Amino acid sequence: MQSEDVSWDHEVDFLIVGSGAGAMTAAIVAHDLGARTLLIEKSPQFGGSSAMSGGGLWIPNNHLMNDLGFEDSSDKAMAYLKSCVGSIVPEARLTSYLENAPKAVQYLCEKTHLNLHVVPDYADYYQELPGSLEGGRCLEATPFDGSQMNEEEFLQMRATPPQALILGRISMAISEAQALLTHSPGWIMQFVKLALNYIGDIPWRFRSKRDRRCSFGNALIGPLYQSLKERNVPLWLNTSSNRLLVEDGRVVGVEANKEGEQVNIRAVKGVLLAAGGFDNNPAMRKKFLPDPSLAQWSCGNPYSTGDAITMGQQVGAGLELMDEAWWGPTVVVPGEERARMMVIEKSLPGGMLVDKNGKRFVKETSAYDDVVKAMYANNTSEAPCIPAYLIFDARFRKKYPVGPLLPGAQLPDWAVSSDIKKHFVRKADSLEALAHKMGIDVSGLNATVEKMNEYALSGRDLDFGRGENAFDQFYGDKSVTPNPCMAPIAKAPFYGIEVYPGELGTKGGLKVDERARVLGPDSDLIPGLYATGNCSAPVFGRTYPGAGSTLGPTTTFGYVAARDALE
Ligand SMILES: Cc1cc2nc3c(=O)[nH]c(=O)nc-3n(C[C@H](O)[C@H](O)[C@H](O)COP(=O)(O)OP(=O)(O)OC[C@H]3O[C@@H](n4cnc5c(N)ncnc54)[C@H](O)[C@@H]3O)c2cc1C
Repeated sequence: MQSEDVSWDHEVDFLIVGSGAGAMTAAIVAHDLGARTLLIEKSPQFGGSSAMSGGGLWIPNNHLMNDLGFEDSSDKAMAYLKSCVGSIVPEARLTSYLENAPKAVQYLCEKTHLNLHVVPDYADYYQELPGSLEGGRCLEATPFDGSQMNEEEFLQMRATPPQALILGRISMAISEAQALLTHSPGWIMQFVKLALNYIGDIPWRFRSKRDRRCSFGNALIGPLYQSLKERNVPLWLNTSSNRLLVEDGRVVGVEANKEGEQVNIRAVKGVLLAAGGFDNNPAMRKKFLPDPSLAQWSCGNPYSTGDAITMGQQVGAGLELMDEAWWGPTVVVPGEERARMMVIEKSLPGGMLVDKNGKRFVKETSAYDDVVKAMYANNTSEAPCIPAYLIFDARFRKKYPVGPLLPGAQLPDWAVSSDIKKHFVRKADSLEALAHKMGIDVSGLNATVEKMNEYALSGRDLDFGRGENAFDQFYGDKSVTPNPCMAPIAKAPFYGIEVYPGELGTKGGLKVDERARVLGPDSDLIPGLYATGNCSAPVFGRTYPGAGSTLGPTTTFGYVAARDALE
């Protein structure tokens, strides 16, 4: 790392690159520790993928679950993490996560406007592993009233993507989404309540389509932003960090482009990189991710272009797990900027995922991460499953939403836009005709449907065990028996859509230690430099232990980094 002569334009104690949940948490903690703190954000909007997210945080042994009587402990959570993450991540990082994650969320709950609550039955993703729980570890940001924000700033918060909004407009919380999408008892009243709340926001309704009842990631980022604002912590939009500046072997600031002008910002106590992954950088995807992998299959923030990873590399940082992502099966919807993740549809009864031979290759109710891993593992020239195909029947279509398609009961086929009919969903009167339209092997598809229909009647999927545990059933339809995740695929017409190996963001990044300090390839320290979130190597290695496994760590290690740099 070479020193250079720099003329400084600004000086702070702690500089944070990015404005997602990890960045904002670090900024709040740094300010509270007395540091002059600045966040810089490349895009014209703050919040990054964190604002676009579901707003769930996976925090074992958190104070809120303890208050509700869930029984958890760091030992139990460590048993779980050790068995799913394995030895690929040093134990010191796992220990740091388990120690600091509950403290970080408690801090945020006590010192900021953020409200979190437990999603009681959101089970850990690997129910068969020791230390897993059937609920309690997933915290959700409680809906937040966006009218508390000034109008301009509210619109500067990156919006919730259409996939997480009813009719592309009305926001909902995780439990509300689960009830609406799986038609749990009371879902109609729920819908009416949310719709009336949306329509009733007069005169705002005449100014913007955006719902000011913020939920999901907006319920996380909105309150954190408000908390930064009342602390007078500056957040510069349209300011891209380009290069780290080094003095005597220590990172002492960044060179940035602020609205077209170069500025050198000195950071006396440290720089935290929290600038997201490389979701939208085709060259980096090609270099690091498994093939095929296209940026348009990603759901992540379009400004996640890997800048922080490149900047870290330039000062000698090591990289880890660059072939990994927070995988999930996605669908590409005409006219939408980012892909939509298929979280719920894949688990609902009356549908299944098949390859080009018409054969199933995965338990559809598995964690979304594992569905994509299975797509890559099974994709051969004899049995291609990229894309895979979600096949469903008329009953499924009538009852459940699929991507941008509302349930047929609310949006019959005749009312579906021609673009969606042409580019998104295929429909045919028989399975044979559907297979022909989609290029799937007819006899393979027929045989699989026959088998699935038998499994649906008995309630037991003898091939993959679909719907067998609490996590599988979270997104099942409780009114369907004997297995809430399976029903015969029998009623014409039949439908199919293409499904891709997408992600919520890439996962590999700068090598870091348990204190979020950036390390060289041989674990030598790069003084003054910290990283959190998707620009840093994941604390959960190649796995996805439960809902909130990316926001939990970015928030926690933002908290850890600020304390390490400033205490
Ligand atoms: C639809 C969706 C749903 C999701 N749901 C969940 C969920 O419920 N739970 C969960 O744990 N995870 C979820 N995720 C994943 C999660 O949102 C991300 O993994 C997480 O937000 C990444 O946080 P981060 O701190 O790395 O950065 P981000 O929140 O992405 O923020 C990074 C910021 O840095 C900015 N930036 C980039 N380059 C520069 C630069 N050079 N200079 C300055 N700024 C820069 C970006 O514009 C961005 O604003 C979801 C993702 C999506 C897309």
